[in-house]
Amino acid sequence: MSEIPSQQVRYETPAAHVALITLARPDARNAQGMQMTYELNAAFDRAAHDDQIKVIILAADGPHFSAGHDLAGDHGKTWRDFPIVGTWGDFDAEGAEGRYGREKEIYLEMAERWRNIPKPTIAAVQGKCISGGLILVWVCDLIVAAEDAEFQDTTMDLGLPGAEFFMHPYELGTRKAKEWLFTAGLLSARAAEARGMVNRVVPNGTLDSEVLRLASSIAEKPAFALKTAKELCNSAQDLMGRRQTVQHAFALHHLGHVHNQVKYGVHVDPAGMPAKVREKFNQRMGMAGARLPKDK
Ligand code: ZN
Repeated sequence: MSEIPSQQVRYETPAAHVALITLARPDARNAQGMQMTYELNAAFDRAAHDDQIKVIILAADGPHFSAGHDLAGDHGKTWRDFPIVGTWGDFDAEGAEGRYGREKEIYLEMAERWRNIPKPTIAAVQGKCISGGLILVWVCDLIVAAEDAEFQDTTMDLGLPGAEFFMHPYELGTRKAKEWLFTAGLLSARAAEARGMVNRVVPNGTLDSEVLRLASSIAEKPAFALKTAKELCNSAQDLMGRRQTVQHAFALHHLGHVHNQVKYGVHVDPAGMPAKVREKFNQRMGMAGARLPKDK
C-alpha cells in the first residue's frame, strides 16, 4: 500500500461500510497535481484493502468539484517525492518522454487503476467539474450531481483533442460528445443526466446526505456480488472498444502536446489559457511571455 502524508485529500468513514474520500484543496478549486494524485491513490488503496468498507464516495470541499489538472505544476516536487506505481518513472526526462511518462502514470494509468477498484464508487459533484476533473468522476461507478453542477472539457481551447482519459463518447454518445468537445461547452447536471453520464441530480445543499443514503443502501448488498457486478459492467464497456479508444486518444493527446510545443514553444496553445493562468504558467516556464498564435 502506498504511503503519503495527507495534505490535499481527507479520508473518513461517515457510515457503516462507507468510506468518504474528499478532495480538500478548495483554495485551488481542487486542482490535481502529483500531490493530490498520490494522496488519492493511497486513500483509494486504503478503502479497497479495508474489509469493513463496501462502498467508496469521492467528494470535494468548496463550491466546485475540480478545476482540473494543476497548470501551476508540482510546486517544486518531483516524481521522486512520491510513491509512484508504474515502472516508467523519469517524469523529468527531456523531449516528449518526461511529459508522456508523467501523464501516463498520473492521469491514464491511475484512472484505469481507480476504475478497477473492486468496490462500488460514487462521485458527488457540485459546481464546476472541468477537464481533468472529469476523469476523477468518470472513473467512479455512479455520479450524483447537485443541481448547480456543470461539466466542461476546455482542452480544445488549449489545442488538445480532449482530457487524457478519453471516455467522452462512452459517457455522452458519439454525436453529443463531438458537439461538447468542439465547442468546449458547459454541460448542465440535468443535460448530463439525460445523456446517462449522471445517475441522479439532487437539490443543492442535499448532495452529501443523498449520496451517503445511496452509498449506505448499496453497502447492504453482498460484497462479492457487488464486486462481480462491477467487473461485468466494466468488461462490457471494454468490449465496446473503450480501452482501445482511451489508448488511441492518449497518443493523440500527446501528439497535441508536441504539436503545441513545436508551434508555440509550450505544450498547450497559450491562446486558450485564462490570462491569470498564463501569467503563472509563464513564470514557471521561465518565459517572458508565452507566444500567442498568429493563426490556428
Ligand atoms: Zn496532457
